[in-house]
Amino acid sequence: MNMVKLTFYGGVNEIGGNKILIEDKKTRIFFDFGQSFALGPEFFTGWLEPRAINGLGDYFEFDLLPKIKGIYAEKLLASTGLPYVKPRIDAVFLSHAHFDHVNPIQFLDPAIPVYLGEGTKLFLECMEDTSPMCSFGKHAYHKFRTGDRIQVGDMVVEPIHVDHSIPAAYGFLIHTSDGTIAYTGDLRTHGPRKDMTEEFAEKARHSEPVAMICEGTRMVEAEQRKNFSELQVESLSDKLVSSTDKAVFVARYSRDVDRFRSFHNVAKRNNRRIVVSPKTGYLLTKLATDKHLNLPDLLHDNSILVYYKRKKSGRFEEGDYYAWERQFMDRMATYEDVHKNQNELIMDLDFYQFAELIDIKPGLGSHFIHSMSEPFSEEDIEDAIMHNWLKHFKMHFHQLHASGHINKEDLANLIRLVKPKRVFPVHTENAHLFAKYMPDLKDRMTLTEKEKEYKI
Ligand SMILES: [Zn+2]
Repeated sequence: MNMVKLTFYGGVNEIGGNKILIEDKKTRIFFDFGQSFALGPEFFTGWLEPRAINGLGDYFEFDLLPKIKGIYAEKLLASTGLPYVKPRIDAVFLSHAHFDHVNPIQFLDPAIPVYLGEGTKLFLECMEDTSPMCSFGKHAYHKFRTGDRIQVGDMVVEPIHVDHSIPAAYGFLIHTSDGTIAYTGDLRTHGPRKDMTEEFAEKARHSEPVAMICEGTRMVEAEQRKNFSELQVESLSDKLVSSTDKAVFVARYSRDVDRFRSFHNVAKRNNRRIVVSPKTGYLLTKLATDKHLNLPDLLHDNSILVYYKRKKSGRFEEGDYYAWERQFMDRMATYEDVHKNQNELIMDLDFYQFAELIDIKPGLGSHFIHSMSEPFSEEDIEDAIMHNWLKHFKMHFHQLHASGHINKEDLANLIRLVKPKRVFPVHTENAHLFAKYMPDLKDRMTLTEKEKEYKI
């Protein structure tokens, strides 16, 4: 016993940035290798960001990534004091494709293999294909599906699918010499695939885990924000769309395809078509290759149009667009098309694309559904600007969102069901509230500290 060690290099007292090292005898595996949501906000903001030319130098200057030997790529260490040594990590397992779980894998030694869900690989490829600066590095990528058992040295890792705001999200059962450790990744119980989260919980319970590494995004004293289930978002949107003959615009997280599906359903039910960006078009075509995701295929579904902004010549010519954008030009909706057919469309409109409204000229009393988290602070500048635009165009604002994360009550029920011997909260700003809201489990809670080694 006591062969297994846990160290948390991120995700401690913060939402995101999970980097969890599990060691069993000579085997060392990272579970997630994510970036903190606020990347050194005391030092970087907007366009003032770490320079790529300095490799890991700018990150190490402000302790934005852990200074550990044997994990990073040799050339990125050149300008740092950390000497390069051959990899001391056997693998990295990714729970899902959100950047706070995956982004810094680009800095890892390419010799370290990366294990990820089939769908997660599609998401990473999409980002690389459509964002010129994006590259996750040339690792050996091993794809898994739910229920696989993957032996890496002394550990066996069993990924089990969970429901989250991006498809291909997994929790892990990590079978070690000291027993099983359950890691939740990010999950929820109020989404369209809550059955997957239940399956994870059931299998975790069955494995009688010695430890549970558990997300706690919504572990707060009192929840201030409105949160619906995915079904409620769909039915409330349906109610709105069916009662108006005006344009309806939607801002949602671009990779939340459950939300896309909800609005696609609403559009079809109301004889409207849905307008997406070329980036979403590209993502949908890619994800359509994975039948498990059960998404509409843009190339065969005429209810989906693709919005092309004016670029370069301003005349919507093929050469104005990137090669990956061009494949949907036969589905093109321009600002004029949207203007003319506004009562027959539901259009994705991201905050950063708001200038398109100047061309589209939405009719008075059009609707804007903000289908994302409410702002974190009352002084949120972008939120104020968004409302200025809506006021300018005399549009109605609606807040309709379902969180990607489990709420406090369901989380307590999940932990009680799984019955782990110990709980390590991660991905939360309020680890201390775990004990407060689960007094019956107080003795099992560990107030995780960053970079401290825990034996189980
Ligand atoms: Zn996530």
